Amino acid sequence: MTTHAIFTDEHEALRASVRRFVDTELRPFVDEWEEAGFFPDEVFHRSGELGFLGLHYPEAWGGSGGDLASSLVFIEELGHCGCGAIPMAVAVQTHMCTPALAEFGSDFLRERYLRPAISGEKIGAIALTEPDAGSDVAGIATRATLDGDSWVLNGSKMFITNGTRAHFLTLAAQTEPGARHHGVTLFVVDTDLAGISISRKLDKLGMRSSDTAEIRFEDVRVPAANLIGDDPGQGFSQLSWQLQYERLSGAAQSLGQADEVLARTIEYARQRHAFGRAIADNQVIAHMLADAATELAAARALTYDTIWRVQQGQFPVAEISMAKKYAAQVQNRLADTCLQIFGGYGYLNEEPVSRAWRDARLQRIGAGTDEIMNEVIAKRLGIRS
Ligand SMILES: Cc1cc2nc3c(=O)[nH]c(=O)nc-3n(C[C@H](O)[C@H](O)[C@H](O)COP(=O)(O)OP(=O)(O)OC[C@H]3O[C@@H](n4cnc5c(N)ncnc54)[C@H](O)[C@@H]3O)c2cc1C
Repeated sequence: MTTHAIFTDEHEALRASVRRFVDTELRPFVDEWEEAGFFPDEVFHRSGELGFLGLHYPEAWGGSGGDLASSLVFIEELGHCGCGAIPMAVAVQTHMCTPALAEFGSDFLRERYLRPAISGEKIGAIALTEPDAGSDVAGIATRATLDGDSWVLNGSKMFITNGTRAHFLTLAAQTEPGARHHGVTLFVVDTDLAGISISRKLDKLGMRSSDTAEIRFEDVRVPAANLIGDDPGQGFSQLSWQLQYERLSGAAQSLGQADEVLARTIEYARQRHAFGRAIADNQVIAHMLADAATELAAARALTYDTIWRVQQGQFPVAEISMAKKYAAQVQNRLADTCLQIFGGYGYLNEEPVSRAWRDARLQRIGAGTDEIMNEVIAKRLGIRS
């Protein structure tokens, strides 16, 4: 099911054109890229060329001037490529490292980073997490100190998606030690500046064709003009806003990937025979799949309803966290059911269902863990202070 009241004929046409891109330019190569542990930069370049990276950004900066739903249709449909790594890495570009830049950045920054990110010429990354601070963003220790017309950066960032290939980072640093969230400031940092080193490419359970890096900063001089916003100390509120886009894109990723693995499993269950009949003809298997489809429909309804609210001008933080968390949990339960239905073949790395199972696990951790989503929901609903 792909239709919903928020989607127009234009959205459906976009969905079909993303699906063509996925079927012809991504899916045939995904096994090879997953095996190599890296997908080519060309995926960003082609996505930009086809206009997919700026669907919701203003035309003035090279975008299409469309709505949020368009950009999420793109991310959801990417989930049909056969891995989670590409939708995640591309969503970093469209919904994680660029929203604050587009909303709060100067025209200088938009020209220099947003426009080439939309065209696919520059690849971006979002650098918030540190070795000792993930969920607690206000607890970051990377320090930026003003020195003349530059900020001097020292510290390190952990788990940075696109980190080994990014041209720029949207990075959070502490500009007022001890001030926690009051001192968080966002910068756009060119990765070729002196003092930046990619300390290691991390070896992960899943999302294997995306690159994930630890990045060190030693006396890196970032021009003052690369601060996002008018003053230091605004980064936490900018991030609180930007993270809503990141979380909605997380929900969209979960829906697309879950839909793909469910369709593949239904096909398998209908053609795989045991005891003289298709395994789908066992009521227990049919009901497992019916339950999975039901849960996916519920996750989709919640996510689409939340996107609709945002498009009505609401800022539904609790619902965004619910959609992100619920879609990720449904994706995980569904992937586990699917793997079970594939039996022993589901346990082989060569069978995409095992990749779907591994990739799904990150969705309950990245962009805010399930527990942090519950914290947000509990506070917003007045359950706790
Ligand atoms: C493959 C991958 C890609 C990633 N990409 C990026 C990226 O591009 N950029 C980036 O900045 N980060 C990225 N991350 C980091 C990710 O966002 C963090 O891992 C995540 O936010 C959790 O932070 P943490 O790992 O430090 O866990 P911690 O914050 O240490 O949490 C550990 C556990 O404690 C729980 N916990 C923490 N606080 C509370 C609380 N108050 N109440 C209840 N439970 C709590 C958490 O839910 C979790 O279960 C990525 C991570 C991975 C694995």
